[in-house]
Amino acid sequence: MIVVMKPTAKESEIAALTDELKEMGMDIQVNRGTECTVLGVLGDVYSIDTAKVEMHPSVDKVMRVSEPFKKANRKFHPNNTVIRVGNTEIGGENLTVIAGPCSVESEAQIIEVAERVKQSGATILRGGAFKPRTSPYSFQGMEFEGLALLDEARAKTGLPIISEIMSPKHVEIFENSVDIIQVGARNMQNFDLLKELGRCKTPVLLKRGLSSTIEEWLMSAEYIMAGGNENVILCERGIRTFETYTRNTLDLSAVPAIKKLSHLPVVVDPSHATGLNWMVMPLAIAAVAVGADGLMIEVHNDPKNAKCDGPQSITPDEFQDVMDKIGTVAQVAGRKLAVVR
Ligand code: PEP
Ligand code: MN
Repeated sequence: MIVVMKPTAKESEIAALTDELKEMGMDIQVNRGTECTVLGVLGDVYSIDTAKVEMHPSVDKVMRVSEPFKKANRKFHPNNTVIRVGNTEIGGENLTVIAGPCSVESEAQIIEVAERVKQSGATILRGGAFKPRTSPYSFQGMEFEGLALLDEARAKTGLPIISEIMSPKHVEIFENSVDIIQVGARNMQNFDLLKELGRCKTPVLLKRGLSSTIEEWLMSAEYIMAGGNENVILCERGIRTFETYTRNTLDLSAVPAIKKLSHLPVVVDPSHATGLNWMVMPLAIAAVAVGADGLMIEVHNDPKNAKCDGPQSITPDEFQDVMDKIGTVAQVAGRKLAVVR
């Protein structure tokens, strides 16, 4: 961190600030220029509130020279993180495909979709039980019954399961029922929820917020990791832009950006990113080509009658086509389709 003092700063003010920062455990290098003095601050600068330092009347500005996230930062953890989920892995050379309906609707539906996506090569089953709907009058999910049906589908197919959590009160229940806990876009900055998830060991898939920057997204991952749970998977699911043709705008540049900034695995969800079933295939291919560690795809056995997100859901046959195509692209991208061992 660099602190630029005002040209009018007195020696006594520079000394007082230096002492204050030293008391916080920092090492200070004082550089006296012809116009102003610049302090180089070294140490665990993540704990410093830069805005507070800037409040000193003798300080002109404070600049961070490194990112505000630490545990998620590749600088301190150069190797890619590989996360074990049930009997499969996310990250490393693996290309992991998570597939299933937007929401669990019935026993027959989730079992059929689970069996079909497994046959096509998905290694993790998704299904919402608690749904964050824009309207309170829309289907809110089967809740605990939905979690029980996912458990049944896991027992039948051997696929690990992922489902979205909405309340910090449910962390213990989710820990005991799913293999990955999903934090939806709308809850990316629900810091109480993130803190609770930091206390458990279950891997967390953290979706990017609707209007969140890459740094804000990584800071949310940092919340979970700072609490002790380092098993975080990031998921790019499109962001809000001025474009209305698609439901959101898929920010594929976030994938190489995350790869540069962080060691955490990143998956792409082309279903929520576009809201259009026919765009899932081209964007799934593109996501693999730019280096995603996996995909999350909504698959429904009867999209027209789906209770949630039918227009963006593909059928099991269409999912098979996607898997055939991405198998070829995965090879070029230096990936192997993940397997369930
Ligand atoms: C979902 O995965 O069903 C979902 C609600 O996604 P998002 O949080 O990305 O909107
Ligand atoms: Mn959905």
